[in-house]
Amino acid sequence: MSAHFDLSLEEMKSYGYKIVDLIAEHWDTLNDKKPVTSATRKEMDNLFLQEAPNTGMKANEVLDFVMDNVIPNSTVISHPKAYSFVPGPSNFISTMADSLATGFNIFSGGWVASPAAAELEIVTMNWLLKMFNFPVEKGGGIFTSGGSMANLTALVTARRIKCGDDFSKAVIYLSDQAHSSNIKAIRVLGFKKEQIRILPTDIEFRISINKLKNAIAKDRLEGLQPFCFIASAGTTNTGTVDPLHDIADICEEENLWFHIDGAYGGAAILSKKGAKALRGIDRADSLTVDPHKWFFQPYEIGCLLVKDASWLSNTFSEKPEYLRDIEGNESEINFYDYGIQLTRRFRALKFYMSIKTYGLDTFKEAVTYNIQLADEVEKILRKSRNWEIISPATLAVINFRYNPIGLNLSEPEIDALNQQISKRMMESKEALLVTTILNKQVVLRMCLINPKTTIDHVKETFLLCNKFAEEVLAEKK
Ligand SMILES: *Cc1c(COP(=O)(O)O)cnc(C)c1O
Repeated sequence: MSAHFDLSLEEMKSYGYKIVDLIAEHWDTLNDKKPVTSATRKEMDNLFLQEAPNTGMKANEVLDFVMDNVIPNSTVISHPKAYSFVPGPSNFISTMADSLATGFNIFSGGWVASPAAAELEIVTMNWLLKMFNFPVEKGGGIFTSGGSMANLTALVTARRIKCGDDFSKAVIYLSDQAHSSNIKAIRVLGFKKEQIRILPTDIEFRISINKLKNAIAKDRLEGLQPFCFIASAGTTNTGTVDPLHDIADICEEENLWFHIDGAYGGAAILSKKGAKALRGIDRADSLTVDPHKWFFQPYEIGCLLVKDASWLSNTFSEKPEYLRDIEGNESEINFYDYGIQLTRRFRALKFYMSIKTYGLDTFKEAVTYNIQLADEVEKILRKSRNWEIISPATLAVINFRYNPIGLNLSEPEIDALNQQISKRMMESKEALLVTTILNKQVVLRMCLINPKTTIDHVKETFLLCNKFAEEVLAEKK
């Protein structure tokens, strides 16, 4: 008997239809579900831990087991009441596009293997370049697994172009609100602690230009080589955009690479208000955006844009002999020359199909709606005697805490109370609402980038928050 994985045509079809039905039903009934799940390692071990089975079982039985046990033990991050971290609203067309890309197992590394895949990455990259006012002819970019990999790809490139082989004296600057993936990337690159400057932010969580200038000047006096600044265009905590024009001026004067991490906020460019907040974003040398966040794509798709595509090919091109037959000509891009991965899934397809299907206007309306929704939430909170805004609605992120007028709670009491509100909300599973820390205060944070979220969803969540807060206060008495 020969080993084989084959199913008959009928078996494949009925199995596939079943999965499509399950996914479509999930999308259709999101509102009826609870967003939160929680389980301990022990509970999960009890369900799943076993040796790899030598003998298989019926495909449908495995699928049923997965539907009964795996899916319900996963947070519904696309749920309208999933407010925490950066939600993944996704969209159905892209979900199916991903199934096509996987179903046909399209290799998206070299031109010759899949010219259409490479072409669609070029085309969609051009859409993004134009959106951010980057030069379409000279500029370029690459889809990655996410924002973390886009930031890593950017910093490898920045170091290669600015420092060449010797980066022993190189210094890199970022703010204390910059996303942790940047620090991870810096560590992956092998920089020593002494080569990293994490600069404090002002009361609005923006980088202090004065502190940046001082740090650069001091490092130059020490004989070091300032080579890169990482700005945030939409911090994950508060949606804050660093003063991009001011930073761009400094980077030009000081010959620093200007990287902008727009993984969270970049997509706000699609709305008028967001575009205003992001002014100066087109002055970056490299820009991370993260389509699996606010461009409504399913995981995984991140993106790095650069002003000059040759920076990427100069950094990542290797010419091994075993790839000589799939090299195209100059204009035919091999995306394995633009980044770290050789074998790459066909990420451009979902981006392409969703924009072709819905039109860019739908994306613009959705992002505009999200920003307005957060503004409306801010108004509701401001009108209430119970709530205090800690960081106002900025690119659809808002931070607030329960602190009723007249109760005169101490800071530790307010922290504990808000922690309890989040804890009880998570236990109720009604909304995914967790805390963050701002100015040493425990605050509740909402990231409102799901177009399915309505003001009524938020009001329902606030009602529950109030109820939990009153319970906690009553228990204390
Ligand atoms: C989410 C995020 C990242 C990391 O992106 P992943 O897609 O999670 O890898 C980087 N920077 C910012 C500002 C983010 O919000």
